[in-house]
Amino acid sequence: MRAFVMEGIGRTGFAEKPIPVPGARDAIVKTSHALICTSDTHTVRGAIGERSGLTLGHEAVGIVSAIGSDVARFAVGDRVVVGAITPDWGDLASQAGHPSQSGQPLGGWKFANVKDGVFAEHFHVNEADANMAHIPESVSNEAAVYCADMMSTGFAAAENGDIPIGGTVAVFAVGPVGLMAVAGARLRGAGLIVAVDADPERLELARHFGADVTVDIRLEDPVARIVALTGGVDCAIEALGNDEAFGNCIRATRAGGTISNVGYHGSGEFVRIPREAWGVGMAEKTIRTALCPGGRLRLERLLRLLEAKRIDPTPLTTHDFAFDEMPEAFAMMDAKSDGVIKPLIVF
Ligand SMILES: [Zn+2]
Repeated sequence: MRAFVMEGIGRTGFAEKPIPVPGARDAIVKTSHALICTSDTHTVRGAIGERSGLTLGHEAVGIVSAIGSDVARFAVGDRVVVGAITPDWGDLASQAGHPSQSGQPLGGWKFANVKDGVFAEHFHVNEADANMAHIPESVSNEAAVYCADMMSTGFAAAENGDIPIGGTVAVFAVGPVGLMAVAGARLRGAGLIVAVDADPERLELARHFGADVTVDIRLEDPVARIVALTGGVDCAIEALGNDEAFGNCIRATRAGGTISNVGYHGSGEFVRIPREAWGVGMAEKTIRTALCPGGRLRLERLLRLLEAKRIDPTPLTTHDFAFDEMPEAFAMMDAKSDGVIKPLIVF
């Protein structure tokens, strides 16, 4: 089968690989649709070190093409979405309520990290009964694929933000995860949502997903605007992964509020905290972090939102590519050219 791989830091290309074989509790899925993630481009740039011949990608839906002998809930031919994060459910971190961290920190992140990812004609799913979900008939592949990572991660940002009903939220950077964080904040009952970015089109889309106020950082100081509007938000969401956005989250949050980080801090040795805005360590500002939650329960809850039409994530798809066009699609995502938000890959 064909796979799109990281050949080495800075290099990608197609490779021929054998179709994977399931273990007793695993499944193999024939890929139907996939999304490229900014974290795939971080990986190729070297954020998690050298990888040689590893298949990229972690957001996909498809049809079950093989199952292990102990898989109970799925059969060959089922249409499924697979979590980007596929935890080991027997691990102690899972039992402690942190399945994404099973095995080791970020250990639930297997696709395109420690095993081949989903940019291939088939891919392997560990613990299939726990790590994938049936897609309801009324939900399209094009929508369901957003459950794998974007909705799960963006909504986790809002869930971790401990947003009071009617509370105030600022989302720093409205790329696809930030946009889903805006949507998640609305679903959680926020009373005022401020979206911050430097891209007018993304800010417009943030309004579509529920932002009440948008701040273009090229035109004004986001912290000054947010503090003037709210006196400091109940929750600031960091959905970018850099020092400036992280620092602004600390500055924009009221004493006692929550900073919810889902940004991927992909470079540098330390993440800096602005000391005075942090109340010199005593302002009771909570910093929470999350990796995309995995698991069938999570996926089924997200799919329920699609089935009930509480949200439609498909406006995030700005471009469609055939699998053959992966190199062009990947280069576009890396350069963030042509106003790309999410490129959808059709197999
Ligand atoms: Zn992703």
